[in-house]
Amino acid sequence: MKSDSFTGWPSNKPVGRLAPSPTGAQHVGNARTYLLAWLSIRSRGGRLILRIEDIDSPRVKVGAAQQAIDDLRWLGLDWDEGPDIGGPHAPYVQTERIDLYREALSRLQRDERVYPCTCTRTDIEAAASAPHIEHEGMIYPGTCAGRSASDAVTLGDQPFAWRFRTTDRVLEFDDRVAGPQQANVRRDLGDFVVGKMDGSSAYQLAVVSDDQAMGVTEVLRGDDLLPSTFRQLELYAAFGWTLPTFAHVPLVIGSDGRRLAKRHGDTRLATLRQLCVTAEELIGLLAWSCGLRPTRDPISARELVAEFDLCRVTREPYVFSVGHVFNVPGQS
Ligand code: GLU
Ligand code: ZN
Repeated sequence: MKSDSFTGWPSNKPVGRLAPSPTGAQHVGNARTYLLAWLSIRSRGGRLILRIEDIDSPRVKVGAAQQAIDDLRWLGLDWDEGPDIGGPHAPYVQTERIDLYREALSRLQRDERVYPCTCTRTDIEAAASAPHIEHEGMIYPGTCAGRSASDAVTLGDQPFAWRFRTTDRVLEFDDRVAGPQQANVRRDLGDFVVGKMDGSSAYQLAVVSDDQAMGVTEVLRGDDLLPSTFRQLELYAAFGWTLPTFAHVPLVIGSDGRRLAKRHGDTRLATLRQLCVTAEELIGLLAWSCGLRPTRDPISARELVAEFDLCRVTREPYVFSVGHVFNVPGQS
C-alpha cells in the first residue's frame, strides 16, 4: 500500500478534521456534528486531525479550547493529530499558524485576486440593496472593486480589509449529505473579506489554507456553513488546490426552529456531564436523531463505527428540547 511520505499513513485513506471554535462551551449541536465527522473517518480507517479555530479573537474565551478537548474526549472521540498529542502538521492552533495565512494572502495579492476595501459595515449597508441569504450579511456592493492590490500603498493610514474578487459564474459541487449544490458566488454572496482590517486573517482563508496544508480530504461540518463552502471553492480555484469532499449535516435546532443556542436552555456538554448524563446516553440519543439507530438506547461512539454509513444520515434538522430529554432546566 502506498503511504504519505509525510505521515507514514496510507495515502488512499480519508483524512478528516474536528475543528472546534473556542468561542464558548460546546453543546449538543456541536457534539452531533463531531460525532458524524468522527464516524465518517473512523468507519473507513482514515485519519483525524483536531484543529482549534481560535482566530475569531474577540469571541474566543479563555479555557474554551481545553474544554472542547475535554468534551470531545468525554464523548469518546479521538484523533491522530492535534494540539494535545502533536503530529506532522503542527501547530494545530490557528493563532499559531498565521504565517501560513499571510503567505496565502500575499499570493492572492500578487495574482490580483484581492483588493483593499476601506468600507465600514455602515457604508456597505447603505450601498447594498440586493436581498441576501440569512446570516450571510450584506452582499458587498463592489464599491472598492476598482482598486488593484497595489493601491493599498496609496491609502495612507486609512484602515482597510483585503477583499476577494469573486468570479461571476455558477459553481457546483456534490455534497455527500446535502446533495447537489450550486451558487454564483459573486451574485449570491458577493466579494468577501479574507484579511481583516486589524491585520488578522478571516475564517475563509484560514480554513482553506489549513485544510490544504494538513492534507484534509473530507470536510464534514454543519450545514450552516454551506454558503461559506462556495466562498472556499473560489479560494481553492484561485490557489489551484485539489478540493476535499464536502458533507454538510443538518443542525440541531430548538422547538422554535432556530439553531440551538442559549435561549433554548443549557445544552452545554459540561452541564450534562455535571448532571450525570453519560456520554453513552447522549451518543445514543444523537445516533437515533441522525437515523443511525432505531432507538435512543445508550451506546458508545466506538460501537457505532462498524455499521456507520453516511448515506443513512437524515437530511432533516433535529429538534431538541433539553428539558424533555434529560432532566435539565430548559426553556422549550
Ligand atoms: N470552527 C468552525 C465551527 O466551530 C467549523 C469550521 C469548519 O468546519 O470549517 O463552527
Ligand atoms: Zn470597500
